[in-house]
Amino acid sequence: MPSQPSSLVRPGQKERKPWQRTSTFVDKRKRGRAGQRDRAQVLAEEPLCRACLELGRTTASTRVDHIKPLSEGGTDDRSNKQGLCIPCHDAKSAAERTAARRDRPDR
Ligand SMILES: [Zn+2]
Repeated sequence: MPSQPSSLVRPGQKERKPWQRTSTFVDKRKRGRAGQRDRAQVLAEEPLCRACLELGRTTASTRVDHIKPLSEGGTDDRSNKQGLCIPCHDAKSAAERTAARRDRPDR
């Protein structure tokens, strides 16, 4: 099948055929260079882990976290992103996975 640039969608035009639709989780997250630039920007603005700062610790942030997960309806906007260190990000992700399992026992 022919490859189409996904960014060239005219207003009013249906973006995808129903059978090509992927989950909203995949669609919302920026991919490629745009996503990398966004992550670099967040880490530049928040060089210290936000969760650690609340606990009075100063830890370098190395991960960009979605404050409200995309899978929970969060946006990919800057206002929904924060810098976290790896342990804090892993802990938050684990808690979110647990919550998602509780809400959707079929997943
Ligand atoms: Zn931290």
